[in-house]
Amino acid sequence: LEESDWDLADFVDGEEGEEDIAVPTLAIVGRPNVGKSTLVNRIIGRREAVVEDVPGVTRDRVSYDANWAGRRFMVQDTGGWEPDARGLQQSVARQAEQAMQTADAIVLVVDAVVGATATDEAVARVLRRSKTPVILVANKVDDERTESEAAALWSLGLGQPYSVSATHGRGTGDFLDQVLAVLPETPREGTAVGGPRRVALVGKPNVGKSSLINKLSGFERSVVHNVAGTTVDPVDSLVELGGKPWRFVDTAGLRKKVSHASGHEFYASLRTKGAIEAAEVAILLIDASEPITEQDLRVLSMVADAGRALVLAFNKWDLVDEDRRYMLEKEIDRELVQVQWAQRVNISAHTGRAVQKLVPALETALSSWDKRVPTGRLNTWIKEVVAATPPPMRGGRLPRIMFATQAGTRPPTFVLFTTGFLEAGYRRFLERRLREEFGFDGSPVRVSVRVRE
Ligand code: GDP
Ligand code: GDP
Repeated sequence: LEESDWDLADFVDGEEGEEDIAVPTLAIVGRPNVGKSTLVNRIIGRREAVVEDVPGVTRDRVSYDANWAGRRFMVQDTGGWEPDARGLQQSVARQAEQAMQTADAIVLVVDAVVGATATDEAVARVLRRSKTPVILVANKVDDERTESEAAALWSLGLGQPYSVSATHGRGTGDFLDQVLAVLPETPREGTAVGGPRRVALVGKPNVGKSSLINKLSGFERSVVHNVAGTTVDPVDSLVELGGKPWRFVDTAGLRKKVSHASGHEFYASLRTKGAIEAAEVAILLIDASEPITEQDLRVLSMVADAGRALVLAFNKWDLVDEDRRYMLEKEIDRELVQVQWAQRVNISAHTGRAVQKLVPALETALSSWDKRVPTGRLNTWIKEVVAATPPPMRGGRLPRIMFATQAGTRPPTFVLFTTGFLEAGYRRFLERRLREEFGFDGSPVRVSVRVRE
């Protein structure tokens, strides 16, 4: 690994041995093209422009370690653009809502040259009722002349606009001083840790979801109705398993299951999606007695797209004979290659067979999902792997991996900084080796590549 133009120190400093210390999070929100990514790069001290190499990665929320005046915090780059699925305005507002719930301070970025758009105003309206501190950044104030445009943003009702030029660095010092002034020393409670872990129990109709939640609820005789310090959403079920409470999201309806045929498949699918998004880990129930179907795979891709940890539970195992078992193994090899990393439990919600085995599988999946590999260790390892198996040449040149960092957890997200494009096959190879080395059973792992422009 060679020294490079990246400010490696910004990534490495203070991380080794300190990764357990919780630091506060700064969320960056705003509509597309106002300069959020440029500002994030500026904050984390990466002076070189970088381009995203992998389509889709910008949709995820990625957090970076940052350090200003000796204080550490995380910067969360909220990508999250699905302008097709819902309107832009709604999408940005949702991003802001999410930041209000999870971040310790929020930065709203507005393009001062363009001025406040209807979308900016809509988001400002949301943020005005935020209890989390909000800093308004008027970006693209590259020179004195644009200052007056920045002043016009007082109209958003979020206090003083901090004029900044993310590309040139103008005004960023004052802005970062203000960040430190409003950012608490420690992260807010109840975000990362604390409270029962959230599980989504998902699968196609009739696979046994209600039966399983009923079984689990009765299992240790103790359905927990109230856990100290938690307010239970009435649609969730708190279930004690393996000596601790788990929150099964959006399952209260399943436990009673008054009308079986309630709602279309469309609504069922929306509901499944919502449950997955609210959860940290999903148990995907698959009917082991029948062939794996398109519907199973659809739910599976919802879990994968959401980046949640996963446990595969093959239900109705009491109906599985020798022949069926043989067929099932073949189906699993064929249909579930994408999630070879997921742990598998063969259960019967009907008889209760092996239902307790769900607990260790959930725990493994969640600990993988939360895992952080220290930057130093990651780079030592990747240097060895690349030396033994270099990436394929591109256009007669060998792409170099200059630096790797785990940019985020939940799920573990790695960013490789390279001098050239890495082919998908090689990225998959690296992911495989990463899993072998560090162990991420039960969790998806994301690897993105940033190529120097
Ligand atoms: P995002 O979609 O909000 O993340 O915006 P980007 O960071 O991708 O920036 C969008 C465009 O605005 C890019 O072409 C940037 O180079 C440009 N940009 C960002 N910050 C500034 C700035 O401070 N001044 C000027 N003039 N352009 C900027
Ligand atoms: P849901 O639609 O996913 O909630 O599925 P249900 O829990 O309502 O189960 C659908 C049907 O499968 C019911 O008739 C259950 O009794 C049956 N069932 C669920 N789990 C099992 C199992 O492990 N073994 C057998 N034999 N039947 C099961």
